[in-house]
Amino acid sequence: MTDETAASRVAAARTAPQRAGAAMAPPAAWDREADVVVIGAGATGMTAAIVAREAGASVIVVEQENDIGGHAITSGGNVPLGGGTRAQTLHGIPDSPDLLFRDLTDWSVVEPNGFPDYRYNDREIVRAFADCNVAVFDWLVAHGVVFVDKAPDARGGNAVGNSAPREMHCAVSHWPMVQTGRPADPAEQATRSSGNGLMRPLEAAARRRGVAILLRHRMVAIHREAPNAGRVLGIAAEHEGARLAIRARKAVVIGTGGSTGNVNFRRIADPRLTEEYCGLAGMPWSDQDASGELAAMAIGASLWGTYNQVGEFGFNITKPAAIGCQYGYQNLRWYPGSAVFHRAGAIGLPVGDWQNVITVNMLGQRFYDETGPGFTTNNYKSIDPYVQADYRNARNVTFRPNNWLNAAMAGIGDGHNGGGPIWAIFDADAVRREAWIPEHPHVDFAGGFCFRADTIAGLAETIMMRHQRVRMPPENLVRTVERYNGFVDTGVDADFGKPAPRYRIATPPFYAAWATPVIHDTRMGLRINAHCQVVDLNGAVIPGLYCGGESAGGFSQHGLARSICQGYLAGNHMTSQTT
Ligand SMILES: Cc1cc2nc3c(=O)[nH]c(=O)nc-3n(C[C@H](O)[C@H](O)[C@H](O)COP(=O)(O)OP(=O)(O)OC[C@H]3O[C@@H](n4cnc5c(N)ncnc54)[C@H](O)[C@@H]3O)c2cc1C
Repeated sequence: MTDETAASRVAAARTAPQRAGAAMAPPAAWDREADVVVIGAGATGMTAAIVAREAGASVIVVEQENDIGGHAITSGGNVPLGGGTRAQTLHGIPDSPDLLFRDLTDWSVVEPNGFPDYRYNDREIVRAFADCNVAVFDWLVAHGVVFVDKAPDARGGNAVGNSAPREMHCAVSHWPMVQTGRPADPAEQATRSSGNGLMRPLEAAARRRGVAILLRHRMVAIHREAPNAGRVLGIAAEHEGARLAIRARKAVVIGTGGSTGNVNFRRIADPRLTEEYCGLAGMPWSDQDASGELAAMAIGASLWGTYNQVGEFGFNITKPAAIGCQYGYQNLRWYPGSAVFHRAGAIGLPVGDWQNVITVNMLGQRFYDETGPGFTTNNYKSIDPYVQADYRNARNVTFRPNNWLNAAMAGIGDGHNGGGPIWAIFDADAVRREAWIPEHPHVDFAGGFCFRADTIAGLAETIMMRHQRVRMPPENLVRTVERYNGFVDTGVDADFGKPAPRYRIATPPFYAAWATPVIHDTRMGLRINAHCQVVDLNGAVIPGLYCGGESAGGFSQHGLARSICQGYLAGNHMTSQTT
C-alpha cells in the first residue's frame, strides 16, 4: 500500500472513539502488519516483543500512553525469581522449580485474617511459571537489566513463597525516573531498586532489535475471523482520532496490565469498589482500564481465577500512605518534574504516625483505629517454622482482622455500595509534628483532595468534591473531634481502641485530606493455559491470541515476575508454532 492510500484510509476511518469491548468485524484491508502485534509496552508486552523479535518475527507494539513502561516502570523494581537462579546459587540459597511450584500452590498458607494466598492458583499456570524462572533471570541480565549486587532477599515481596529468598532488585541506573523527571542520585544508581532499571533496558533492547513501538496507539478491538470462531487476525487501534487496522500474521499478545481502573469491570469481583476509589497505584502514568480483557471477551475469551481479586492479602487494596492527593499509594509519589504531574495534581503528605490524624467518613464519623495496618502477604519466612502443605502452618497463625480497610469501605448505610471518601482530619500542631507543608504542590486543593478552615464546623462545610455524595454535617465533625479529644485526655479510645490516643485536634487551621483506600493489583483476568494462550468459555484455545501479566487470571502474585515470565512464555510459544 502506498503512503497516500494509507493516509486516505486513515482519514476515512476518522471517527468517534471506540469503547474497547465491542466486537468489530475484520477490516477489508489492513493499514499496517507484522507477524506479532503486542498490546501494551509494559512488563509483559515488552518481554514478549523482544522474545518474538529475536525468534525472527516482525513485531509491532501499540501503547496508548505517551511513553512506554506501564505500571512496571513506576514499580519498585523488586522482581521475585526463584527456582534456583544463578543469583540464588551464587549466594548458596537452595531452591528448585518444584519447591517454587509447591510454595505457590500451598493450600496451607493463610494470612492472619484467614485469607489463603495461594490456594486458588491454577496449577498449570504456576507450573509454567516455576519452570521458566531460571531462564528468565538469565534472559533479563542478557538484555541489559542490572540487578543490585547482593543476595536475593525478601524485600518488596508479595506472595512469592515461603521457602527461599527470591526477591531481586533492578538497579535504577541513570535514566530519568518517571516519578521526578530526573535521574536518581548517582550515589544510589547501582543500589536503589526501581522499575526504571527494568523497563528502560528492555525498551533499549527492543528498539535495537527493530521492534516497532507505536506510542499513543490505543487498541480498541481484536479482530477474529468470526466473533466466536477462527483465528485472531489483528487489532483495531486509535491514534490521534484516526482508526487503524493492524494485521498480526501470527499472534496478538494482550499485555494491557489489568482492570482495576475500570469501575464496572472491577465491580465484577467486588461490588464495593465504586467510583470514589480513584487513587489507583501506578496511575496516572498508565491506567488499568480492562481494555484487553473486554476486547478478548468480545471474541469469546473467559475470565479466570476471580477469587484472587477479592483475597484480602497483599496489595490488592491498600491503606494510603500519603494524604491530601488523589494518588496516595505507599510506594509511589509524583513530583512536579514528572511528565504526568499535571495529571497527578499533588505529591501528597506522607503519614509518619497515624496518631497525628483521625479518619472520618462522609458523615464526619470515625470508623476504626487509624493506626490499623493494611493487609499482610506471604513471603520468605512469613511463616516460621514452615513445612510445605502442612496443616500446622494455618493452625499456628494468630488471627488479626486488619480491618481499617474493610471498615473504610463499609459505607454510611445509604444504599450505595462503596464506602465513599475517607478524610484525614488534623490540625496545625499535627502539621508541625509531621513537618508537612500543606500547600500546593504537596496537597491538591484545586482537585478537591484537600480542604482547610479555621474551625472544625467550617472545615466540614468546605468539603465539596465529586465523590462526596452527601454533605458532611458540621455538627457531626464537631462532635467527633470533641469526643476524640476527650479520649486523648483519658488516654482511652472507648470507640475503636486506638492505642493511647495521643494528640488533641485543637489548633487552627484545621485540615481534611483525602485518605481513601487505594486499589493496586489486578489478580483476576483472562483464562490462559501454560503457553499463555487465551482460552474461551468452552475451554478451547483462541488461536493466535496470548495474554500475560495483570490481564491474565489464575495466579495470585504481585506483579513483575509473573508478567515478565508470561511475556517470555508467550513470545516463545507463538514463534515456535508453524501455523
Ligand atoms: C507503584 C507500583 C509499584 C510496584 N512495585 C512492584 C515491585 O516492586 N515488584 C513487583 O513484582 N511488582 C510491582 N508492581 C506491580 C507491577 O508493576 C505490575 O504487576 C506489572 O507492571 C504488570 O505488568 P503488565 O505487563 O501486566 O502491565 P503494565 O506493566 O502496567 O503494562 C501495561 C501497558 O499496557 C498499556 N495499555 C493498556 N491498555 C491499552 C490499550 N488498549 N492499547 C494500548 N496500550 C494499552 C498501558 O498503558 C501500559 O503501558 C508495582 C506496581 C505499582 C503501580
